[in-house]
Amino acid sequence: MTTPAKRTCPCCRKPKPLASFPSLQPGGLLHPYCRPCLTARVRQSGRARDQAVTAVTKVCALCAQRLPLDTFHWIKSSQTHHSYCRGCHSVYMAERYRRRRRSVLAQK
Ligand SMILES: [Zn+2]
Ligand SMILES: [Zn+2]
Repeated sequence: MTTPAKRTCPCCRKPKPLASFPSLQPGGLLHPYCRPCLTARVRQSGRARDQAVTAVTKVCALCAQRLPLDTFHWIKSSQTHHSYCRGCHSVYMAERYRRRRRSVLAQK
């Protein structure tokens, strides 16, 4: 456990210490690109700094939290991520099921 954790940046293809990668969440997910590459890319595109962050995170349409993309269900048919995070999605589905069931019962 003497070697510090390193990670290869896909942009410059150099192994760099984890500290060189900006974190997207405290103590969690790290941005795939190292800081110098990210800065260069941001400067290149002329966009705001969190533009690069939006690429791997998404704001949930229900709880309005910015979460990593793998928190969202991937909809194969539409080739996009669901606009609700997994947590909100399951709450939404349970509610939808309950409402449907109620309307079925009301029809009888
Ligand atoms: Zn890099
Ligand atoms: Zn949510």
